[in-house]
Amino acid sequence: MTSSPVDGGLNPHGGPTFPWGHTLLTNSLLNKGTAFTERERDALGLRGLLPPRVFTLKEQLGRAYGNFLRKSDPLEKYIFLTTLQNRNETLFYKLVQEHAEEMIPIIYTPTVGQACLEYGAIFRRPRGIFISIRERGRIAEIFRHWPHPDVRMIVVTDGERILGLGDLGALGMGIPVGKLSLYTACAGLHPYYCLPITLDVGTDNTKLHEDPLYIGLYQKRVRGPEYDAFLQEFVEAVQQAYPKALLQWEDFGNTNAFRLLRQYRDKICSFNDDIQGTASVALAGILAGLRLVGGRLRDQKLLFLGAGEAGTGIADLFVAAVQQEGLSEAEARQHCWFVDSQGLVVRNRPGRLADHKAPYAHVHPPLATLAEAVETLRPTALIGVSGQARAFTREIVSRMSSFNQRPIIFALSNPTSKAECTAEDAYLWTEGRAIVASGSPFPPVTLGGRTFVPGQGNNVYIFPGVGLGALVCESTQITDGMFLTAAKALAALVSDEDLVLGRVYPALSKIREVSVKIATAVADEAYHAGLARRPYPADLEADIRSRMFVPAYRDYV
Ligand code: NAD
Repeated sequence: MTSSPVDGGLNPHGGPTFPWGHTLLTNSLLNKGTAFTERERDALGLRGLLPPRVFTLKEQLGRAYGNFLRKSDPLEKYIFLTTLQNRNETLFYKLVQEHAEEMIPIIYTPTVGQACLEYGAIFRRPRGIFISIRERGRIAEIFRHWPHPDVRMIVVTDGERILGLGDLGALGMGIPVGKLSLYTACAGLHPYYCLPITLDVGTDNTKLHEDPLYIGLYQKRVRGPEYDAFLQEFVEAVQQAYPKALLQWEDFGNTNAFRLLRQYRDKICSFNDDIQGTASVALAGILAGLRLVGGRLRDQKLLFLGAGEAGTGIADLFVAAVQQEGLSEAEARQHCWFVDSQGLVVRNRPGRLADHKAPYAHVHPPLATLAEAVETLRPTALIGVSGQARAFTREIVSRMSSFNQRPIIFALSNPTSKAECTAEDAYLWTEGRAIVASGSPFPPVTLGGRTFVPGQGNNVYIFPGVGLGALVCESTQITDGMFLTAAKALAALVSDEDLVLGRVYPALSKIREVSVKIATAVADEAYHAGLARRPYPADLEADIRSRMFVPAYRDYV
């Protein structure tokens, strides 16, 4: 990343085109608001456009946090933060960084789910790029409209499977916007490099066709060859306009997600966070949990509820990790079982099984329900990735604790309303013996005088670090090996104190440190795999740290 914002030079807008006067106040990357100094006010045409008193960033931060606290409703907090982000990104990121545990659930899950549902109603100003299927043939032209030429990180969705909420069409833009905010807040990727994109190919959510505030196309989803040609044009235009960009596929429906990843992962540096990022964070939780359970991965038997992107992604990475413990791929797959909407996934099930499920369709008589599968298979871990609220019933969870001293219960479905069980229930129904992780945050639980802090298996522990690591070394690819490396690095950061509290992830307040360690491990992996385009620095971790965006004001004159 030479001659770029992270190299410590003046911002990329420096030089003769530096915005002046009122325009500067509307540039969120450069705006300092009331913190412009007396000299800057004179030199940059700001005199009179601001109240006379000059504030420090710290003072502005106090005011912004006070205003944040005044909002009682999470969606109101989301709107407040979005507005701040659009006005002054330095202040926004400083605020998010200082209060990470409080703010991340607002700018991302669970609140972002509500924000997406209401994106049309709360819409104020656009962020990122919207490309509709009607603009086929014009994608390169659209990229020329984006003000920053050196984009390095793109998060793109077509809105078909937003969190566990289903098809939200163009309303899904909240997700790429939120994820990129996390890249900056959690891994120090300069916001200048980040580009959120929504591909609007229509929506099959017919309620949206009747919503007068819907911001996307009123039409059914385009599928088949026309969709594929649109995606191909998109990828080629990205390669042309932003040759160093990493492309993150986000919240595509699973019929497209697996296909797109397979088709493009070797052609453009890209990954799918729902599949690979989720896998890595879940595996990290299991690895950390093993320090309480005892034994190795190969001693575990995982039963998944939900056989989609998240579930089979986790299983694939688990299989890769178990292979490193000496089992063959076929043997390792026998440790992962799936229940989907039609019951246990088995070899002789009638009808065609989706490609991603086929490797886990074991020879076994059919079983209709999760309860039956638990009873018959006696798994050590139950992983919920089905979007089915409260599917882990008292009966099922208690049964898990009857044949496991420390059952692993991960209810990963988002948002909170879709979780397969609450953390409180999981602890209550297992007399506090369960090792718990959830997709959305749950508050601490006190039981029998002990307080448990449930771990949040949030992808934010993984993807910002993986992205940063790949970008700093300019890796040409993101491999599964990098996600395995990231999972191990994350598990190693879980302290004994975390485990005493029942937490299989580090505190979110440590997220920047976590991202640095993961980025270092991932970049090192890229160097060893021969994928890096930059020379290995003298001190990789120090090099990464020096490239991270720090939200602080610089003097412009
Ligand atoms: P997906 O659409 O690819 O898969 C959903 C799966 O659930 C499908 O296999 C479907 O058959 C199954 N399913 C649906 N109804 C079911 C039922 N009644 N019983 C059993 N299975 C049923 O979605 P995905 O990307 O795999 O995501 C699934 C859930 O996992 C979502 O709620 C998502 O928010 C959550 N998730 C959490 C994390 C995290 O915590 N870090 C990350 C990614 C996804």
